[in-house]
Amino acid sequence: MIDVERIRRDFPILGREVYGKPLVYLDNAATTQKPQCVIDAISEAYCNENANVHRGIHFLSQQATDMMESARDKVRQFIGAGSTEEIIFTRGTTESINLLASSFAQAFLREGDEVLISGMEHHSNIVPWQIQAQRYGFRIRIIPVTDLGELDMDAFKALLNPKTKLVSITHVSNVLGTVNPVLEIISQAHSHGIPVAVDGAQSVPHIKVNVQELGADFYAFSGHKIYGPTGIGVLYGRKGLLEKMPPYQGGGEMIKKVTFEKTTYNELPYKFEAGTPDYIGSIALAIALDYVQGIGMDAIAGYENELCKYAIDRLNDIPGMRIIGNASDRSAVISFLVGDIHPSDMGTLLDRLGIAVRTGHHCAEPLMDRYGILGTVRASFSFYNTKAEVDALVAGIERVRLMF
Ligand code: PLP
Repeated sequence: MIDVERIRRDFPILGREVYGKPLVYLDNAATTQKPQCVIDAISEAYCNENANVHRGIHFLSQQATDMMESARDKVRQFIGAGSTEEIIFTRGTTESINLLASSFAQAFLREGDEVLISGMEHHSNIVPWQIQAQRYGFRIRIIPVTDLGELDMDAFKALLNPKTKLVSITHVSNVLGTVNPVLEIISQAHSHGIPVAVDGAQSVPHIKVNVQELGADFYAFSGHKIYGPTGIGVLYGRKGLLEKMPPYQGGGEMIKKVTFEKTTYNELPYKFEAGTPDYIGSIALAIALDYVQGIGMDAIAGYENELCKYAIDRLNDIPGMRIIGNASDRSAVISFLVGDIHPSDMGTLLDRLGIAVRTGHHCAEPLMDRYGILGTVRASFSFYNTKAEVDALVAGIERVRLMF
């Protein structure tokens, strides 16, 4: 059970007002707010534990290194990975997928090969592949999305062929809220010997993820979307694949030995972590993961699902409401349009009522094209949101609708 009033007190920002109205924060898919324990962890680390990691023999450096490495182990345990060698710290999902695309393409992709993505990908899981496709000449193929907002699984199976070298797919759509059947996708791909990368930006904060049970070969997520700080993220990769992939960037910490003639690279995961890492970010991320585990991922998923169902029911009572994405398995992200009100008009007027939603294409322009729309209004929920906030959203939309 979620005690939402108690939880809300952990998040200082939720107590503030905007334009003299209580803040109703429904932009959690873009970033989540931070509990006091995460804010304190950052402050505490800078006040008491700050020194550059890995390179120092002095006390503080050792301590900061130990804290960063135990944060890595926390991430490993949180996503059910087998080894910390498979946990690479990055700046976020975008950097994780850029690293993957760059290194995987260099190691494995050639002209004539195919990488399969879907029609509901965030630009972060499209553009990095396009950049590498220009370099290496492989082809990007697209799994179509149905009217309901689900992946067309028959089309997916038909697209798998001997040229397919990787499937890279989002676990949860940041626009439609669809939870994709990644277990089935992975088992289908694996039956053809094809590895699968999963964009977990919108899944890890909301549902229990175990990369080994899923069988994922790569899995990416962002700290700031799971109540942690900005600037820190994770790429999980299967050791056997990471070992065959070249480094993404060169510099400090990713080397074993450098001469002007030849450089040998460090072991995993350091081979992929050039330069001073955001060790304070890793430490605070681990605190955020402890925090959500303290609430419980099953309790979070249960509460958010109930809130989402309540929101959909209430929104559907609004005349002219069109919800984009009605998948049978969904997460607490709802995109909608009301009559012919422009999403940015709706968003701006809701903002004046203290209600923070996101409007626009949500970095998924091909998906907007699929539905023949320019953008949507998106409300995205967290376990700290309440039914009263859903009611405020519905009342706000009604008010805006009557103005038009
Ligand atoms: N993938 C998905 C599905 C997302 O929703 C987002 C962010 O909204 C990203 C990738 C990119 O995440 P970040 O900006 O944290 O790198």
